[in-house]
Amino acid sequence: MRSLIPYVLIFVAALLLPLFANDYWAVIGARAAVYWVLVAGLNLVVGYGGQLAIGWVALLTLGSYTASILVARFNLDPFLAYAAGGVVGALAGVVVGLPALRLRTFYFAMTTLGFATIVTQIALAWQSVTGGGIGLPGPMLAAPFDSAWGFYLLCLGFAAVVTWMTANVASSRYGRSLVAIRDAEVAAEATGISKARLLIIVFLFSGFTAGVAGGLFATLQSYITPEAFSFDLSVTFFIAILVGGRGSIIGPLLGNVLLTLLPEFAAPLVAWSTFLYAALLLAIVLLMPGGIAALLDFRNRKPLESNRSIVPQPDRVRALLDHGPVRDNIVLSKVVLAFGGVRAIDGLDMTIRAGEVHGLIGPNGSGKTTTLNVISGYYAPQEGEAFLGTRVLPHGIPQARSALGIARTFQTPRVIGEASVLQNVMIGATIDGRASFLEAALTLPRHRSDEKRMTTRAMDALEVVGLASLAAVRADRLQHSELRFVEIARALTGRPAFLLLDEPAAGLSTEEIKRLGILIKAVAEAGTGVLLVEHHADLIFDICDHVTVLNLGRELAAGTPAEIRAHKEVVSAYLGA
Ligand code: ADP
Ligand code: MG
Repeated sequence: MRSLIPYVLIFVAALLLPLFANDYWAVIGARAAVYWVLVAGLNLVVGYGGQLAIGWVALLTLGSYTASILVARFNLDPFLAYAAGGVVGALAGVVVGLPALRLRTFYFAMTTLGFATIVTQIALAWQSVTGGGIGLPGPMLAAPFDSAWGFYLLCLGFAAVVTWMTANVASSRYGRSLVAIRDAEVAAEATGISKARLLIIVFLFSGFTAGVAGGLFATLQSYITPEAFSFDLSVTFFIAILVGGRGSIIGPLLGNVLLTLLPEFAAPLVAWSTFLYAALLLAIVLLMPGGIAALLDFRNRKPLESNRSIVPQPDRVRALLDHGPVRDNIVLSKVVLAFGGVRAIDGLDMTIRAGEVHGLIGPNGSGKTTTLNVISGYYAPQEGEAFLGTRVLPHGIPQARSALGIARTFQTPRVIGEASVLQNVMIGATIDGRASFLEAALTLPRHRSDEKRMTTRAMDALEVVGLASLAAVRADRLQHSELRFVEIARALTGRPAFLLLDEPAAGLSTEEIKRLGILIKAVAEAGTGVLLVEHHADLIFDICDHVTVLNLGRELAAGTPAEIRAHKEVVSAYLGA
């Protein structure tokens, strides 16, 4: 509730503006609102999803022309024309966005710019429809929206609705998934998030708001020509989000208002605008990388208790996992995987049984992590197969593992530093969500019950690993050892049938390792199969039911801890006599 206050204050101030400002301000206010309709949607793409869509003005252009042409040439109702602009924007949003699935950052940014140039060129060249360089009139509205303040209040309404919807999306599993793709893509995949599906939905939505903004923009301008849709405008939208801070709604909202007002206060500087924007951008990157949102984030400036200890509650694991009996085993059969000349795995057979802890040890570079990556779908074996029961585990789609009940942690923890610990852990429950994107944007009942369920389960997982008291803290403020437990909590939140742990004890104190061991044991006793890659021999021998020793990608020894401890070669090679 407290987080609503700034929005309410801004909205009330905007509503009161007509009482003490003249008509000139109605136009500026309407412009800020129209821009925000676009920027709010773009914020999901750029601020949350981390996709550098610089040329988003293209969608404003398309929405503008669609609405204007439909009204001017076909006499359509302006509001229907706005909606049509939105639909064209949505479709174009997907077209502009698709390259993001293949191209990295700057290459993607360039394609969006290219698209913007093409759209403007078409608007110029297709004279019979667009009026070419002469342009055409924008949609005219009837009373009460034909007055300056009437139109302002209309735009304010649109802006409020879009703010509400994007804030809903941001705090939903869709918003969390976007941030996960931005900051921890590999971990996002491991929890079942499909980047392609997610981004396409978001491009549709963001394109829609940009298209609607285009229609409103045409009415605001009352006459549109291709020049109105300049590169500067596109950069302004983008910078508003950076100034505001990524992963925030209120920040970019203020950034957008600021950038719309700036030229009014500094009219003589307009000729310098490109230079000023560049300077502004540099200043943000250097001085306040978190933008306005970080300045306003008071909660995360309170110091944390320095003597925190992680005390898991293994007795609560069973209630958390709560899955039926796991019948299938994970079976590796003669798996071979080479990187160039290096045979990282060289004919490995291994069975991970439900309800047991399977230790995987061996010197650095012996293929432990690679084995884990084969099971979790990042690498395809060149020979042999990995099975779940009798089913071959599909290659190359790690995001499909989560639905099969396979969860993992990483040798280097992959968490979203800018998100809270709770949000990080909730990522693990993403695939359990039932609500569609639209249901989330409108906070319909299914979305609300999703959130309640995911929050409860994530909090339970945090209780289990002993980090509940840090739930609200930004993850990048945690210690390394705590991040390891955050990852375990995230994995457990998905109620996995199999849990793959890549050196979970690295960087932990002796006391923490002991507690970790009890926790892992409890996970296995609750029916989940655990693959434990570890260096700490004590931990392995304490809690494992089976141990496989790797050397140069081959099995050197396998058996119970007692058998391994008595194995001559293993003892002389690793354990010390
Ligand atoms: P471990 O986890 O047991 O320390 P890894 O499975 O990470 O070992 O690595 C096994 C071998 O495969 C090492 O020689 C490593 O250099 C090589 N390797 C692992 N991943 C890659 C990769 N992506 N490209 C090339 N070589 C790799
Ligand atoms: Mg490794």
